[in-house]
Amino acid sequence: MSDYRLGIDVGGTKLEIAALDSKGEILLRHRVANPGTYDALLLTLRDLVEEGRARTSRDATVGVGIPGAIDSRTMRVKNANATWLNGQTFGKDLEQVLGCPVKVENDANCFALSEAVDGAAAGRKIVFGVILGSGVGGGFIINGEPVTGLHHIAGEWGHIPLPWVRAEEFPMPKCFCGNDGCLERFLCGPALAASWKGDGQRCADGIEEAAAAGDAAAIHALDTYVDRLGRACALVINMVDPDAIVLGGGVSNLKTLYSRVPDVMKKYAITPECRTELLKNQHGDSSGVRGAAWLWGK
Ligand SMILES: [Zn+2]
Repeated sequence: MSDYRLGIDVGGTKLEIAALDSKGEILLRHRVANPGTYDALLLTLRDLVEEGRARTSRDATVGVGIPGAIDSRTMRVKNANATWLNGQTFGKDLEQVLGCPVKVENDANCFALSEAVDGAAAGRKIVFGVILGSGVGGGFIINGEPVTGLHHIAGEWGHIPLPWVRAEEFPMPKCFCGNDGCLERFLCGPALAASWKGDGQRCADGIEEAAAAGDAAAIHALDTYVDRLGRACALVINMVDPDAIVLGGGVSNLKTLYSRVPDVMKKYAITPECRTELLKNQHGDSSGVRGAAWLWGK
């Protein structure tokens, strides 16, 4: 197999490609707009791969992260927020356009893989990667491989309910998935912003600085967020007992999470000494392309 890996991150608005060598050095990185229609997407990806191969090797492998999952029975895309991708046999179609095998994986799984292979959680056996952004996603990596599961939904942490709920937390907010009280509704960036500055607010930038300056609403919003994130992590620990939980997405930039959330994890996890590490991602914006590249192994 080639020493070179091409990793592509298909986002709702942007496409990004990176070419990595066997040491994980990025040799090429290119970002373009997502053309927004399926046929144009395939052609744009063909051009990006062509460019990547011209700069590395003709047989560089191709891995792709998408904002959705591949149904394991039909091989069609589902749950993508770029809704025009849903129902498409994306992996097969891209293989046809490129004339080579392609590995496709959910973007949260790519994030987790990137951090488990040579990122913040390198060398750990069981890693749970979480994206705390405009939505909330997650993925498990065990022994360097993404765990996908029967329906390809393993690690869909955003749509399990908030655990160890307190009386004052009712009524539970409604989620777009049809259920009430999903973690995404409490832990996404806009939820943090709304709990600080009120309904409809979506940006929580500056909340730590505001809390440090004595803003009571910011302090309360952060305290609540830390407590809920800690409970949500403890639930994962009780279920899968990972070595490390790695945080990504905009909210992962809050320093207070890494100093305070582990104490809440200890309080709720059913082990007196909870040694699970809570880590900030190492590769930031590059995690999507890096994880896609490592679908073929490092
Ligand atoms: Zn939900």
